Amino acid sequence: MTHVFVSPHPDDAALSCGGLIASLRELGQNVTILSVFSGGPREGQELNPYQREALGFGTKALWPNMVAFRRDNIPADYEVRVGAGTGPWAADPDRMAVTQEQANTQARQFWQRAAWTRSANVTNEETGERPLADAVPGQGSLERINLGALEAMEVRKVEEERYAYLIEGSVVFLDLPDAVYRGYEGDEQLLGSVRDDDPSPYALIRREILRLEPQTVYFPLAVGDHVDHQLCREVGLSLLDEGRRWVMPAPDFAGRLAFYEDFPYAWWHDFEDPARWPSAAFDLPAGVELQARYSDISELMDQKAAGIRMYGSQIRRLFESDQGMLDDLAGYHSRVALAGATGRYAERYWAPIRTTPRV
Ligand SMILES: [Zn+2]
Repeated sequence: MTHVFVSPHPDDAALSCGGLIASLRELGQNVTILSVFSGGPREGQELNPYQREALGFGTKALWPNMVAFRRDNIPADYEVRVGAGTGPWAADPDRMAVTQEQANTQARQFWQRAAWTRSANVTNEETGERPLADAVPGQGSLERINLGALEAMEVRKVEEERYAYLIEGSVVFLDLPDAVYRGYEGDEQLLGSVRDDDPSPYALIRREILRLEPQTVYFPLAVGDHVDHQLCREVGLSLLDEGRRWVMPAPDFAGRLAFYEDFPYAWWHDFEDPARWPSAAFDLPAGVELQARYSDISELMDQKAAGIRMYGSQIRRLFESDQGMLDDLAGYHSRVALAGATGRYAERYWAPIRTTPRV
């Protein structure tokens, strides 16, 4: 049986449902993540600072770029002069050349493959032929990493793929452009109301669900009101309104569908109950109500955290640090467990139940 998790962005399924996903996998169930707004901008469109920040690549470089870490800024202990008149410890140019040659041979032996060969540089002087490691991006370079718009989304998709690999699940990217590429700017708009002219992902998501024939589909509740999360939630609500089509005679989506609490928004907002969430958009079809279901993840907290660590670009943005992430997980899931009297740590899902039959 397949369980489909509708994830507005690469990371939402792992953040919100990582415990349940781990337990489903232990039971041998299939898990597919439907990554909806995983798409980048139109070709050539560059990220502005707000978009970079919102996607988690803001001004925070992935490597320390403080002054002290730049090798150029560390003066030599002794003045280095090459050639005549230097101290007895300094090599003359001939010996430097020999040393350089030996270093190159050793570097080649070390890297083994020609394509990986890095030229050694025994002088610490930059030449075109022998750049200093610090000047080469992607080698632990201390240059500030300034991703292009497309690369930023690619990084996030690679993170999602690594998570899918970790859980031995699968991921489907719908590649719709993230809200920051659809003209939403600033937290006010990003966490505000969905624009009337913003197209719904309904047809795309519905097509994938019918194709995957899942036992259960999980949608975000959109706690925190991120517009991309709201659009996904609306798809779930619309599906509730129609019959389930892939098995005849058609029972309906109520009972096959669940809403998850968006972590860490739910933690930040002290979320307790959808009925008390101020967003007026949460309109259930007539005759349907939500019931809380608790998933005991007491033994799965390490696995959930390991999953979230796959999203290296997001941890600092959401939690400041790895420890911050662990603290928030512990705080949130123990609070939910207490509310449901379920184990030490729990995730909560809201299942739509039909109280009066469809007409
Ligand atoms: Zn999200």
